Amino acid sequence: MGEGCGGTGSGHLDVMKVFKDTGALLQGHFLLTSGKHSAQYMQCAQVLQYPWLAAVLGKALADKFTGLEVETVIGPAMGGVLVAHEVGRSLGVKAFFAERQAGKMTLRRGFKLKPGEKVLVVEDVITTGGSVKEVLAMLQTVGAEPVGVGVLVDRSGGQVDFDGLPLRSLLAMEIEVFAPEECPLCAQGIPWVKPGSRGAGPAERGTG
Ligand code: ZN
Repeated sequence: MGEGCGGTGSGHLDVMKVFKDTGALLQGHFLLTSGKHSAQYMQCAQVLQYPWLAAVLGKALADKFTGLEVETVIGPAMGGVLVAHEVGRSLGVKAFFAERQAGKMTLRRGFKLKPGEKVLVVEDVITTGGSVKEVLAMLQTVGAEPVGVGVLVDRSGGQVDFDGLPLRSLLAMEIEVFAPEECPLCAQGIPWVKPGSRGAGPAERGTG
């Protein structure tokens, strides 16, 4: 166990606390890449940088698919790489990732699926689920059989459907976003921060 971020133990797993404690879920005033503002920001990489926590989360996610036959776990790069690895470790099956090549989700590096292979697709966080859908489309082209979708954080608000496949998450939460002109935090005069650029120059911070 590392300092500060260990001690999740084997009992009840408070996923929200793990995300907050590791800085994966930030509270504040954020300018998102979409141009919208929010009071919360999720960066799963912050929790997955602690391998022992990645393992705990991977096992918790794998446990949600108990009884489902899974031969292979696949995640879309980058977000799904470590999640697939840890879920695969827990299930005792192989795990690898799909990645975009010329904009198309594909298997590279000699990763192969056979027709009918039962695949669990995992991702760190979904909002529209676009990357997961691309992986599912790729599975269809090779004739593999998706059996479920597992995500650490489901931000879709129940608005996404993966062809009726079971979707299970460790944490379901919606992060409200605002147009700058309607942002209540801007209205309070709170300066925004561009996530991931802490310590960056003044251009990365602002108001409005
Ligand atoms: Zn704002």
